[in-house]
Amino acid sequence: MRFIFKNLNILRSALNAINMSFEIKEMVESAGTHLPNLFEFSAFGLLWKETSTLYLYQEESCPPSFTQEVSQNMLRVLSLLGEEPKDLSQVALQVEKRRLRPDHMKMDPKATLKSYLTLPLTIEEEIFGCVSLNSDQSNAFDAEDLQFFSVIGYQMAATLKHFQRISSIKTIAIYDSLTNLYNRRYFEERLTGETQRAFYGGSPLSLIMIDIDHFKKINDTFGHTEGDKVLQEVAHLLKNSVRKKDTVARYGGEEFVLILPEAGLEEAHMIAERIRRLVEQTPLNIGRVQLNITVSLGISNFPIHRAKSKEELVRMADQALYEAKRAGRNRVCIFSGI
Ligand code: GH3
Ligand code: MG
Ligand code: MG
Repeated sequence: MRFIFKNLNILRSALNAINMSFEIKEMVESAGTHLPNLFEFSAFGLLWKETSTLYLYQEESCPPSFTQEVSQNMLRVLSLLGEEPKDLSQVALQVEKRRLRPDHMKMDPKATLKSYLTLPLTIEEEIFGCVSLNSDQSNAFDAEDLQFFSVIGYQMAATLKHFQRISSIKTIAIYDSLTNLYNRRYFEERLTGETQRAFYGGSPLSLIMIDIDHFKKINDTFGHTEGDKVLQEVAHLLKNSVRKKDTVARYGGEEFVLILPEAGLEEAHMIAERIRRLVEQTPLNIGRVQLNITVSLGISNFPIHRAKSKEELVRMADQALYEAKRAGRNRVCIFSGI
C-alpha cells in the first residue's frame, strides 16, 4: 500500500510536469526526468506524427544499433495502428542522452531490444503518434507499469492536442486566410522590429506597396469569386519574387506590401520592376479566359527618404504608389517627397 502511494505521488509530479510544458521538446524532457522514478527503461520515445519527429530520451550508453531498433519498432507499431508506414529516413530523430544507470550497469554495445511498452497517443479517436518505454532486459514491464504508463500517455496526448490548438490559433492570428500571406497585423508587428533594427543599427530598409490596377473591373466582369482567385495568383507571384528574409503581406483589399530588410533603393527598385514585369507577363486563368493584369508599385527607403517612424515609411511608399497610379498605372514609382 505504501509503495503504491509513493508511486502515485511520483506519477502526480510527472503528470504535472508534462502538463506545465510549453513545447513538445520540453514535454519529453520533463517526462524523461520523471519516468526513471517510476520505470526501469533504456529508452523512452515519443513519435509525433504531425512533424514526423521521433524524440528519444535514453540511457547515455545506449548503442546506436539499439536506438535504431527502438526507432524502427515505434514506426512499425504506428503502422500497425493503421498509420501510413514510414521508414527511418523520413523521420527526424532528436536524441537526448542521460545517465539513467550506474556505471557498472552500462549497456552492452551489442544490446538488443528485449521488451517494450508502446501506446498510441490518442484523443477523440485521433492518433497523434505513439510513446514507448524500451528495455534491453527481458520482461522489463508488468501490468502495473502498463497502467501507470497509460495515464502518462493520456496526459501527453492531451498536452499535444493543446499545443496543436495553440499553433492553429497562432496561424489564424498572423495569416490572411484567402492568400496565405501574412496579414496586416503581422506586417505592422514585423515592420516595428525591422524599422527599429534599421533606425538604430544603420542598415537600409525598403518598403514596396503594391496595388492591382483596375481590380474593381475584374470583380464586376467575372464576379467576386474569380476576383478572389486573382488575389491568390498575385500573392503566389509575390511570394516567389522575394528573398527569404523579406516579408510579403496583404495590406488590405487588393493591396500588398513588401518589407525588404537590408535592401538599398536600387535593389528595391530592381525587385519592384521584376514584380511589375512578372505580373504583366503572366496570364491568369480566370473564368473561361486568360487574363493579363497589371500592378502599380510605390517604394520608400530608409535612410534615403529620411523617414523618422515606421508610419512615415509606410506613408511614403503609399504616396509613391499614388504617383504610379496617377502617372498611368503598371509602373514603379519611388517616393519623391514632392
Ligand atoms: P485602381 O487601379 O485605381 O487601383 O482601381 P481599382 O479598381 O483596383 O481600385 P478600387 O479601390 O476602386 O477597387 C478595389 C476593389 O477591390 C473594390 C473591392 O470590392 C475589391 N476587393 C477588396 N477586397 C476584396 C476581396 O477580398 N476579394 C475580392 N474579390 N475583391 C475585393
Ligand atoms: Mg487597385
Ligand atoms: Mg486599392
